[in-house]
Amino acid sequence: MNYASTRNSALKVTSAHAIVKGLSDEGGLYVPESIPALSKEEILGLCEKSYVDRAYTVFSKFLTDFTPEELRHCVESAYNSKNFDTDNIAEITKLSESRYILELWHGPTCAFKDMALQILPYLLTTSAKKEVSGKQIAILVATSGDTGKAALEGFKDVEGTSISVFYPEDGVSPMQKRQMTTQEGKNVNVCAVKGNFDDCQNGVKAIFTDKDIENTLAERNILLSSANSINWGRLAPQIIYYVSTYTQLVKDKEIEYGEKVNIVVPTGNFGNILAAYYARLMGIPVNKLICASNSNNVLTDFINTGIYDRNRQFYTTISPSMDILISSNLERLLYHLTGENDKLINEWFGKLKESGRYEVNEDVKKQLSELFYAGCCNDEETKSEIHKTFEGEHYLLDTHTAVAVKVYDDYKRKTGDTTKTIIVSTANPYKFGRAVYDAVGGKSPCEDEFELISHLEAETGTKMPAPLAATKNKAIRFTGCAEKQEMGKVVLDFLKA
Ligand SMILES: *Cc1c(COP(=O)(O)O)cnc(C)c1O
Repeated sequence: MNYASTRNSALKVTSAHAIVKGLSDEGGLYVPESIPALSKEEILGLCEKSYVDRAYTVFSKFLTDFTPEELRHCVESAYNSKNFDTDNIAEITKLSESRYILELWHGPTCAFKDMALQILPYLLTTSAKKEVSGKQIAILVATSGDTGKAALEGFKDVEGTSISVFYPEDGVSPMQKRQMTTQEGKNVNVCAVKGNFDDCQNGVKAIFTDKDIENTLAERNILLSSANSINWGRLAPQIIYYVSTYTQLVKDKEIEYGEKVNIVVPTGNFGNILAAYYARLMGIPVNKLICASNSNNVLTDFINTGIYDRNRQFYTTISPSMDILISSNLERLLYHLTGENDKLINEWFGKLKESGRYEVNEDVKKQLSELFYAGCCNDEETKSEIHKTFEGEHYLLDTHTAVAVKVYDDYKRKTGDTTKTIIVSTANPYKFGRAVYDAVGGKSPCEDEFELISHLEAETGTKMPAPLAATKNKAIRFTGCAEKQEMGKVVLDFLKA
């Protein structure tokens, strides 16, 4: 299996190359040249298997340049009960009306980013051995919260790697900040930046393209790399939980083999829902892919009209991991829907860069409306969904998952579709405790995060997950705050050690 680029379909590289490089030289994203199929026998066979075995089967079709031993090592090191608080890795909770909540937050940082970032370090170090043997890999991450912590947990103390994370000084939730500044591990560094998320991201990009830094690091045998969501090594692991959930529902006799399901995904950068699309192409029976957005509803408009227009107001919402106006992974979807037409992709994404807007052709519009349903909701609607689901089902939703549940409610009312439905839950509610407490009608709001959380526990009879509780008594290790233009120096100083 080779990989092409969305902006150069003639390119052919191995998966190891795609994972080490992250982004192709001409700016495109790496895509598999064909999507491998799972036969009926294989899908039925997976019903009886563990998450690790299901992961192994899916990876072995995409990462064909990895040996069976290498792949086994990667999946077993990532998906175990040391890292996840359930042997099932991805847990399914059934709500009323045939809705299945797919809980992807049982990993060490309580957000779905763990599903990919627990395994990425192993995929990356294995790939690096093949591609750039002997080099140290230095990961740089700019984060608005969830990615930074998940990457730190994934890369901490992984041989041959180090990781530097930059976050906006005032741009993350109190819990997210605590999670990052108390991070353990010998090879990690965390630094606040005086600026917003864009400043962090621009600073990281500037380091990647700085020739002096590159040369200095090359002398020390260090190669810079990225853990952000356009890397194929983050996307491939996300296909697995869709395959795993379908086979688990068959095993549990909730559905019959061949029965179609809807999948609802709270969406930001379009990585998670794209992985569901890949699972469908592999042969998992899917009716509609339902794309749920918050007030930053650029994807809702795109799927409904075929016009992508980022020239609009940016909203800061209570579901901050979806506050995004450029959904990078959409480029991969459009590459597939145009029949791998790299000319069209170059044209559309050229327009996006120049004017912030492009319109796809009639054929793609038709496919979008057949495959997808898209909807959005605002913060008030998100909170009332949390309230309603807690009152009605005694299930506590986080703010991102609540967007998905609300958009699905609207879909069902509008279409009358009674297909059984998987709703993807991307974070534990205690990561966004303040908004959740407010939503369930909490009566004693207070400044202190842990006091608030104990009220939330008392009010709802639920419990804060252990990894979040553990941050309370951990020492703060990282107090540094850099100016934007100092970020390169921060990285070089850290890598000297
Ligand atoms: C990253 C994130 C999302 C968005 O996922 P994409 O793959 O970027 O669409 C949704 N919810 C939470 C909690 C996240 O951390």
